[in-house]
Amino acid sequence: GWDNAPESFEEDAVPAARPSGGGAAREAQGEPAEILKRVFGYDSFRGEQQAIIEQVVSGGDAVVLMPTGGGKSLCYQIPALARPGTGVVVSPLIALMQDQVDALRALGVRAGFINSTLDLDERRTVEAEFLAGELDLLYLAPERLRVPATLDLLARGTVSLFAIDEAHCVAQWGHDFRPDYLNLSVLGERWPDVPRIALTATATRATHKEITERLGMDRAKHFEASFDRPNIQYRIVAKDNPNRQLLRFLTEEHPGDAGIVYCLSRNSVERVAAFLNDNGVKAVPYHAGLDGRTRALHQSRFLREDGLVVVATIAFGMGIDKPDVRFVAHLDLPKSVEGYYQETGRAGRDGQPSTAWLAYGIQDVVQQRKMLQGGEGDEAFRRRAGAHLDAMLALCETVDCRRAQLLAYFGQEQTGEKCGNCDNCLHGSPDAFDGTVPAQKALSTVIRLRRERGQSFGTGQIIDILLGRRTAKVIRFDHDQLSVFGVGEDLSETEWRGIIRQLLAQRLLEVGGEYNTLSVTEEAGAVLRGERQVMLRKEPKKAPRASGGSGSSGRGGAKKPPVDLPEADVPLFEALRAWRAEQAREQAVPAY
Ligand code: ADP
Ligand code: MG
Ligand code: ZN
Repeated sequence: GWDNAPESFEEDAVPAARPSGGGAAREAQGEPAEILKRVFGYDSFRGEQQAIIEQVVSGGDAVVLMPTGGGKSLCYQIPALARPGTGVVVSPLIALMQDQVDALRALGVRAGFINSTLDLDERRTVEAEFLAGELDLLYLAPERLRVPATLDLLARGTVSLFAIDEAHCVAQWGHDFRPDYLNLSVLGERWPDVPRIALTATATRATHKEITERLGMDRAKHFEASFDRPNIQYRIVAKDNPNRQLLRFLTEEHPGDAGIVYCLSRNSVERVAAFLNDNGVKAVPYHAGLDGRTRALHQSRFLREDGLVVVATIAFGMGIDKPDVRFVAHLDLPKSVEGYYQETGRAGRDGQPSTAWLAYGIQDVVQQRKMLQGGEGDEAFRRRAGAHLDAMLALCETVDCRRAQLLAYFGQEQTGEKCGNCDNCLHGSPDAFDGTVPAQKALSTVIRLRRERGQSFGTGQIIDILLGRRTAKVIRFDHDQLSVFGVGEDLSETEWRGIIRQLLAQRLLEVGGEYNTLSVTEEAGAVLRGERQVMLRKEPKKAPRASGGSGSSGRGGAKKPPVDLPEADVPLFEALRAWRAEQAREQAVPAY
């Protein structure tokens, strides 16, 4: 075995352990930036890609820590094209090699792989291509390097670099440990002049150190991309009057600061920009509907003037490098955590304190779910978009540290549990509470309207019914005759809005139709039957409730009891039973 016979390789070694071996060398194919554009079709490097690529192209070693999705592949693929010879990539993901090679070939990159899935003929073909200098990239499974023949093969051709992907597999106590990775130190010993780049998404210090030591990469430059932007304060507020909320945020916290306000539609961009200007905040609109000259003018004003606010759709921001953007505000819910992260990431590039502020409410959930239902794309696309939206909603509704959740989403662990610089950390996490009973009340109201009246209504009417309000609309539809009328008097309107928003976010309610009416989903059945608990986030209170004390309304005496209980109406029955039980426990139950 390889472990016991390192000397034999000394004997076999080609004396000149240099980038140029015996075989024909593939030629270099241009400058990194040019390759990025021509081969991969991207305009600019991400994060530290450029610095990493420069390090490897110039012949140095690199240890790269970059979160999943950060763009590690280009960090070795581009140097492999920019240097003469073949880039050899060690990857433990045998199942994915074929895909990766296919994807590269589709881009016109000459790539091949050698692993146990190839038969002898296929392997010979790849080996011949490598020796003839016809490969830009050669992917190898780590166990291949245990075989002396593989090392000999590499020595007979020209290797431009070694890339060790998923380098954390070398860490013996890690969960992905691969014994064959321990042998990879031979690459540095046998090819001291060939640059090596080790890459991983595992961000712990211990792993980092182990990679460096075990691969013998003590001369490597270290690149550690973190998703954390500690100077950005993340805040997500419940939307009630978004323009006013935004104005208050800007005038109280960022007077005279430059920043970006994102809106979903061109119309709202125009309206919000006008509103801000009317209220003394210097703002310009930016969206794809404006002519190119206006867009360029507004963009250059943003870059040059102090304290200008750009109100924009997501069309704005790509490639804008303004270091002193002090805030990024969202008046509409971004469609994904990736988008949110990218947009908020435009704040505070200078490292100074900055704010990412998002106002989010029921309408956002309604609107985005509707867009998904009626939207373009096939089923798979919609499922994916739905999953992205769910992750974004989870970030909005979390009772834990926003930063921790954001970093966890990108596969990064955080050292502390609390960052101290997000709303949940700063103002104390809102309590999660068992909201099964209020959930049942809201769901029952929606079901009751449908079952008894064949009607469906939007959030406003549902809340009026829950609160027992005799509005003109309630009276017109006789909704004060419903047995659920007033069943939610124990909570405020704001609290009900929060609950319905969360029921939408948790897919227990859905919206549809021309008027965005509510209906219950299939999953709601388990809640109504009392088989599933609903955890909700308590809305931060603006002012103490007038009633004070526990859940009592303070009006003296019991609240309005529910009217008749038709036994057949199981969901309603369950909800009302729960409501009654709650009444009995009233003094013991804390206010939501
Ligand atoms: P990782 O290996 O770090 O998880 P990948 O190398 O697979 O990430 O890249 C993730 C995605 O990002 C890929 O779709 C890739 O094409 C894309 N990507 C990488 N670099 C860039 C860039 N500079 N510009 C645009 N997209 C990029
Ligand atoms: Mg990868
Ligand atoms: Zn936090």
